[in-house]
Order: sequence, then structure tokens, then C-alpha cells
Amino acid sequence: AAKDAGRNTFQFYNASFYERVQRRVTLEQELRQALARDELHLAFQPTISMKDNAVACIEALLRWTTTAGEARFPAEFIPVAEDCGEILPIGRWVLGEACRQARQWHEAGLVFGRIAVNVSALQLRDPEFANHVIEACEREQWPTDRLVLELTESALMRESEVLRNTFAVFKAHGITLSIDDFGTGFSNLGYLHRFPLRNLKIDRSFISRMDTAPNMLELTHAVVSLGHALGLSVVAEGVETENVLQLLRQQGCDEAQGYLFTRPLAGEDMATWLAAQG
Ligand code: C2E
Ligand code: MG
Ligand code: MG
Ligand code: MG
Repeated sequence: AAKDAGRNTFQFYNASFYERVQRRVTLEQELRQALARDELHLAFQPTISMKDNAVACIEALLRWTTTAGEARFPAEFIPVAEDCGEILPIGRWVLGEACRQARQWHEAGLVFGRIAVNVSALQLRDPEFANHVIEACEREQWPTDRLVLELTESALMRESEVLRNTFAVFKAHGITLSIDDFGTGFSNLGYLHRFPLRNLKIDRSFISRMDTAPNMLELTHAVVSLGHALGLSVVAEGVETENVLQLLRQQGCDEAQGYLFTRPLAGEDMATWLAAQG
């Protein structure tokens, strides 16, 4: 009986493993064609200044609708795009498209601060990355000092010559960085001052628990103090309620982003939303 059970377990494992590989291979193949088939687009979500309710920033978020009409979300496909290298061409497309859209809103007379683009650790390690960023801004006529790149702590952890050169170029052009999902990685705080940082974005997992878990208040307070000590503005992501916004205000947080203001919107809907801001 033990032998049978063992064999069944093996077969079960084998089948699900096969399925997973199969699904993965299909996803990779579809992903490689997504750009050429024009299946990618961007959604946009604003960051609001607590001080005066101005739109400090608009973040571009990647969306993928397959030709079969299936919507896929970044959490599912970005890791795959990173593994198979597709994130490099896709990331370049995102940069250009975000700048193009920002330029278009600007020309329509809409008022907002900067445009923010999420960048993968893999892009950051590409020696050509800084050039691609500058080229995208030039091509789309978007001022480099109105571009923010969002990076995770882990992307900044590995120091290198490439990284130092990249950041020197960014600094010279006024391109600034946000540390995304701050608090979930393991930042070496002593290094933070070396990067051309603008913001710390406190991870949603902390923000969403602020009104229920008392120690989350202390945690956000600590991050706000740290950010301010470094001369950075601190952004809360995933703000869904007035109550949480009020708590953040009390903690001295500078900017907020989340469903409370709006969910991510398509470009034209973002234009309508901006126009209504007054
Ligand atoms: P992120 O940069 O931290 O983006 C915030 C995510 O939280 C977005 O999910 C957004 O839709 C969601 N969100 C915003 N406000 C709220 C809220 O109030 N409540 C809740 N529950 N969620 C909220 P999304 O668009 O699915 O993106 C997930 C992640 O995928 C992003 O996290 C980012 O790390 C990555 N990503 C998105 N676009 C790109 C891209 O163009 N390039 C790269 N490399 N990564 C991207
Ligand atoms: Mg982000
Ligand atoms: Mg984030
Ligand atoms: Mg996040």
C-alpha cells in the first residue's frame, strides 16, 4: 500500500508540474508577441500632495490584454518577462509610452507634477538603460526632470560600476528615483543617500493595516522620520479610506496614492479626472 501511495503521489506531482511548465511556456510565447501585436497598454494612477491636494505625480502601470481578450496583471507576467528577458523591450516601450502620454496631457493644458515609471532590477543592470531613458524623453519631448523612476530596494542593493554611471547620468538630467514598496526589502540605510532619490513609497501592506494594527502607526511614523531625515518626501501607497488618510496626515506623510482618490485609469479617463481636479 505504501508503494501505491508513493506512486500516486509521484504521478500527481508529475501531472501538476507538467501543467505548470506548460502554462509557463505558453505565457512566455504570448509575452514575446505582446508588443508586436499591440496588446500592451498603460493605466495611470495619481499621487496626491497632502499639503495642497495637488497632483504630485502620475504613475504608469502596465496592462496586458491578450488577443483572446484575457486581461493579465503585472504580478503574473512581470516575473516571467524578467526571467525570459522580454522585460527589456517591454520596459523601453513603457518609458516611451508614459512620456508620450504625459506630453499629450501637458499639451492639453492639464496640470500635474511628474510622470513615474516602474523599472525592473534587470533594466537597471543594463548598461544602455540610462541612454534609453534620455532618448525616450528627447523623442517624446518630455523634460527629464519631470520623470521619476520607481525601483525596489532589492534593485538598489547590488552596487556596481554600471549602477554608479547610470545614477550619475540621472543626476545630471534631474531624473529622480522613488523607492517602491519601501519596508518590504532590506535597505542598507547607509547607502540611501548615494542615490538621486525623491521619495520613499511605504508599501501598501503597512498602510492597509494602519487603522487596525497599532504598531503600524509607529512603523509609518518611523519611515516618515527616516525619509525626512534624508530630505525625501514620503508617499503612502494603497490608501483606501478617509480614516487611513487622516492617520497618515497625523504622521506627517507628504503624499498619498490609492483607491480613495482613484483606481488606475486609462489615459483618456485620466485626462478627464485631471480636468475635474481644478
Ligand atoms: P506598484 O508599483 O507598487 O504599484 C501599485 C499597485 O497597487 C498597482 O497594482 C495598483 O493598481 C495597486 N493599487 C493602487 N492603489 C491601491 C489601493 O488603494 N488598494 C489596492 N488593493 N491596490 C492598489 P498593479 O497595477 O497590478 O501593479 C503591480 C506591480 O507590478 C506594481 O506595484 C509594480 O511593481 C509592477 N509593475 C506595474 N507596471 C510595471 C511596469 O511597467 N514595469 C515594471 N517593471 N513593473 C511594473
Ligand atoms: Mg510603483
Ligand atoms: Mg508601490
Ligand atoms: Mg506595492
